[in-house]
This record gives sequence, structure tokens and C-alpha cells, in this order.
Amino acid sequence: MARTRRPFFCGNWKLNGSIAESLALATEVRNGVSTVRDVDVAVAPSFTALHAVAKRLEDGPVAVAAQDCFWEDKGAYTGEVAPAQLVDVGCKYVIVGHSERRQLLGELDAAVNLKARAALKAGLTPIICVGETLAERDSGETLGRVQAQVDAALADMAEADLSRVVIAYEPVWAIGTGRNATPAQAEEVHRFIRSRVAARSAGVAAQMRILYGGSVKADNIRVLMAEENVDGGLVGGASLSAESFVRLVKEGASV
Ligand code: PEP
Repeated sequence: MARTRRPFFCGNWKLNGSIAESLALATEVRNGVSTVRDVDVAVAPSFTALHAVAKRLEDGPVAVAAQDCFWEDKGAYTGEVAPAQLVDVGCKYVIVGHSERRQLLGELDAAVNLKARAALKAGLTPIICVGETLAERDSGETLGRVQAQVDAALADMAEADLSRVVIAYEPVWAIGTGRNATPAQAEEVHRFIRSRVAARSAGVAAQMRILYGGSVKADNIRVLMAEENVDGGLVGGASLSAESFVRLVKEGASV
């Protein structure tokens, strides 16, 4: 199968790591992927390590992502971080709508849309996360839930902005559980997401990267990447070790 979209792998470090630990991990990842061609790689450290890691990775093959952002540029929003501030510290990407934020912090579809649009306006590429819970899958609501999340997240985006978006399909039941979707389950949802985007613009849909996330490892990335609509991975646990993340990138990029 000839790939039409450049594979993309992003490590989501979640709430882990001091500045020194993040620098060490980032450096090892950079060194490990330096010879891998035709792939985009990013890491998403905690806010506190973003600046140091971005400086360390400057001009190299690994970009930096933030794990969240706010939708306003400035003002009385205690604790929030604006997309422009993320650009200022060296970020290229920002993850928005991660299921942990949706579930633990009550983040709603409307907020995910505001965050994604604000990120685009600031020049960041949003990685928009969507995915169903186990209860939703078991009751046959997977595609309906994903449709609602995708449509809401992409609402009111101009085509030029839409073309810069990355979507990550992350079934909630597969995140951090060691249980990942079968390639067929992932492909069904990825294909469906692309069809929703195609309803807005066929051209954008054809080139949009749709990542899979949920217990992805070096050992299972190849079968997922073999699916037509799986363009890469958003990786949690397996990105906390440089050895496993680099191996995953190498395996995934070689399919
Ligand atoms: C994630 O949190 O985005 C994720 C996919 O985590 P894990 O790889 O640990 O399941």
C-alpha cells in the first residue's frame, strides 16, 4: 500500500517528569529517531518542561506539543495557558479534548471546538481527541458518539484551518488499559471520521491525518498502520521510555 499521508507519532507524557527527566527523555528520543525518514514525530511534556524541551529539540526532527490550551489570548483566567504562549515557548502542536480532560475535568465538546480554533488562530496544529467509552461501544453508540465529537470539534472552521487539523481516535476503554482496539475496529472508526470530514471537504479529508491512540506499542503498531485510514499514533505509556517510543516510531514508519 502506497502511503498518501505522512505518518505522525506523538508521545503524550501526561503528568510525568521533572525538567531534567523530560530533557533526558526528549534527548534520547531525538537521537533515536534522527535516522528515521518520512515521518513526523512530536512529544508532549508537561507545561513546566515545555520551554526547556523545545529549546533542546530546536531545529531537530522532533517537534513539541502541549497537552492542552485555553481559548482566550489573555485576561482574568487564572491557571490557563493561551495558544500564543505555547507558540512563544516553542510548541508546534497542542492536544485538545483528551478523554482524561473530558472525563476528569468535565471538558465539553464546545470547549474542545473553542480550543482547537484558538490553537489554529495562533498558528498551532491541534491534535483533536475523540473516542467512545466502553458503555457507548457496548450499546452500539460508537459511531454516533464519535460523529458528535468530530462535528462539534470542527464546527465553524474555515477549510484552510480544517486542512491543518490532526484527529486522534482514542477509544476510552483502550487508554492505559493494555487493551487496544483491533485493527478492524480502529479502521472502521477512522474511515467513518474521514467520511465526516469529507462531508465538509473531500480534499481536506483525503489529506487529514487520523491517529490511533489506546495502548499502542512497538509490538502492535504495525498491524494498525497497515489499515488504510490509520496515519499514526498518539502514544501514552509507551512514550515514557525512549527505547519503546523510538522502536514504535521505527516500526510504524516502516509499514
Ligand atoms: C493517551 O493517553 O493518549 C494514550 C493513548 O495512552 P496509552 O497509550 O497509555 O493508552
